[in-house]
Amino acid sequence: MKINIISLFPEIFESLQYGVVGKAISKKIISLNLVDLKEFSTNKYGSVDDTPYGGGEGMVISPEPLHSALKQTKGKSHVIYLTPQGELFDQKKSKKLSKIDEITLICGRYEGIDQRIIDNFVDEEISIGDYVLSGGEIAGCVLIDSISRNIQEVLGNKESLENDSLSDGKLKGHSYTRPENFLGAKVPDVLLSGNHAQIAEWRIANSLWTTKQKRPDLFKDLQLSEKEMILLREYEARIVKSGE
Ligand code: SAM
Repeated sequence: MKINIISLFPEIFESLQYGVVGKAISKKIISLNLVDLKEFSTNKYGSVDDTPYGGGEGMVISPEPLHSALKQTKGKSHVIYLTPQGELFDQKKSKKLSKIDEITLICGRYEGIDQRIIDNFVDEEISIGDYVLSGGEIAGCVLIDSISRNIQEVLGNKESLENDSLSDGKLKGHSYTRPENFLGAKVPDVLLSGNHAQIAEWRIANSLWTTKQKRPDLFKDLQLSEKEMILLREYEARIVKSGE
């Protein structure tokens, strides 16, 4: 997958060289094409922004430099403008975007970009949450990290992707590693039992219980099978009994 990034601060994307995304880049599963918007300035000061028509605070990124930068990348690419005014990004959207061969991310700054670029060249507007960042770069890093995980070859182990929280509308639940006893807190016995069927059932129940506790909004939309309902009931009964 090719990802073009139009930004005033392309250096911020250097943080993606680590971990899972870094590996995906070095294995050429994804390639990042960083486009520095400053290089497309049309004035002698090298600026790419101007004051807003009608007055008001801040500056707006001008359409001409953005248009020139887009012309360099557009082609068949799916153009996304990162903005708090966009559709909220989630796992479903991430999976959908991971199937596209080439995308272009426009990272705004200041008060954002000229509306005519959005109207004429942007395929969709995406927000990473209901808060305002000072620039689209961190939001772009969030999208790239999440989308990369959803590309089959990136994680290698298909199961770890399928078991990720939110992949099927549920949270993954609790994870434990050595030691068995940490400051008096023990790992649940079933995970030490070696009984794979019981461990699988515990994981289903723990995932449902965690979702119910932490994200009742997701839990209410789950269509639980008979077996899942029984496993969850038994899990909850065990918690009540143990007084947790
Ligand atoms: N004045 C704009 C508004 O109220 O809609 C916000 C501009 S913000 C300070 C500058 C840039 O940060 C935006 O153009 C956008 O690219 C990015 N940005 C801010 N919050 C974001 C969010 N929640 N999701 C994605 N991008 C965001």
